[in-house]
Amino acid sequence: MKKTAKTLALLAATAVLFAACSTKAEPIRKTDFVLGTVCTISIYDSKDKAEQAIEQSFRALKKLEQKLSANIPTSLISKINTQAHNTQIEMDTETTFIMQKALEYAEKSQGAFDPAIGALVKLWNIGTEEAKIPSKEEIQALLSSADYKNIKITDNRIKLINPDTRVDLGAIAKGYASDMVKNILTDNNVKKAIIDLGGNIYALGTRPTGEDWRIGIQDPRNNKGRYIAILKVSNKAVVTSGDYERFFIKNNRRYHHILDPSTGYPAESGIISVSIISPSGIDADALSTTAFVLGAKKGLDFIEKYHKDTEAIFITEDKKIITTKGLRGKLKLETEDYKLAE
Ligand code: FAD
Ligand code: MG
Repeated sequence: MKKTAKTLALLAATAVLFAACSTKAEPIRKTDFVLGTVCTISIYDSKDKAEQAIEQSFRALKKLEQKLSANIPTSLISKINTQAHNTQIEMDTETTFIMQKALEYAEKSQGAFDPAIGALVKLWNIGTEEAKIPSKEEIQALLSSADYKNIKITDNRIKLINPDTRVDLGAIAKGYASDMVKNILTDNNVKKAIIDLGGNIYALGTRPTGEDWRIGIQDPRNNKGRYIAILKVSNKAVVTSGDYERFFIKNNRRYHHILDPSTGYPAESGIISVSIISPSGIDADALSTTAFVLGAKKGLDFIEKYHKDTEAIFITEDKKIITTKGLRGKLKLETEDYKLAE
């Protein structure tokens, strides 16, 4: 992990606006570096109950990281990536669930979302100091490995049928983790909390005042805490995928971490950020990456076809804001740099 926690915190795509809370109540809060990012849990409840729920949550997050990280040699994902080409590898129920969900998104999006993208992710290494533009030949050599049809799941066993295929759950696991933490909090009878896993947010219940939580959507071209809009939500996940969190610029071109599995290069769909508002963290995370690769038109069609309970905000490179029908006429922009599309 090369980036510091501080850098990542500054670049968070979505932020919870606690300061605007007009109550004197202070949350019990803990921040730690897990899942390759800065994670903060803030709970408004009695100290003992909140501290117990927070400790349980971080223990569960660290356990999940040990299992799902592609960067930890002893993880289940590393075992799959090194051994599942020769033999079927057994997965636990949790990993099977996430993998199946990832494959469901891959099928429905015809591979725009693809958990078999791991070898290309490692080749580019975007978000680390080793990031580089690979040669066309290097990309070409790995392109057919980045295809979800290379992943075969039978019951809880997985096999990779292309020797170069590597799985990567980086686009979906934090969303799952936010649902997991939400369940730990509700099991502890916590009713008001914010779970922020590197900008993958879940807003549980309401603010202490009884009002909805306020979540700021970052201006993708101004990372100094300026928001394009502020959303008011309750019991919702808010997840953003953008080209401005993990990227490098070379020869005036921006190379970001969301890859188009059909080309092997960073996705160029005309959008620079997409935020998803959904009752489910895992769906919000998978959808944010899917919609980023699909672009505004196909992304909107995808959400309206499969996720009627979900809203989305797309920001295009020509500074337009396009939303799902449910948000039309309701989004108040905080900046004049962007315009709402007709
Ligand atoms: P999202 O849009 O949700 O996801 C983008 C990420 O998904 C990319 O970084 C890539 O990993 C993958 N991806 C790219 N294109 C596609 C595609 N078309 N379809 C599907 N997936 C795609 N980061 C570190 O730098 N070091 C670490 O040690 C580290 N450990 C981690 C361990 C775990 C268990 C998890 C879940 C994440 C870890 N991360 C680590 C962070 C991870 O690598 C991603 O950068 C992060 O999850 C990106 O999330 P996002 O919300 O910014 O973007
Ligand atoms: Mg995602």
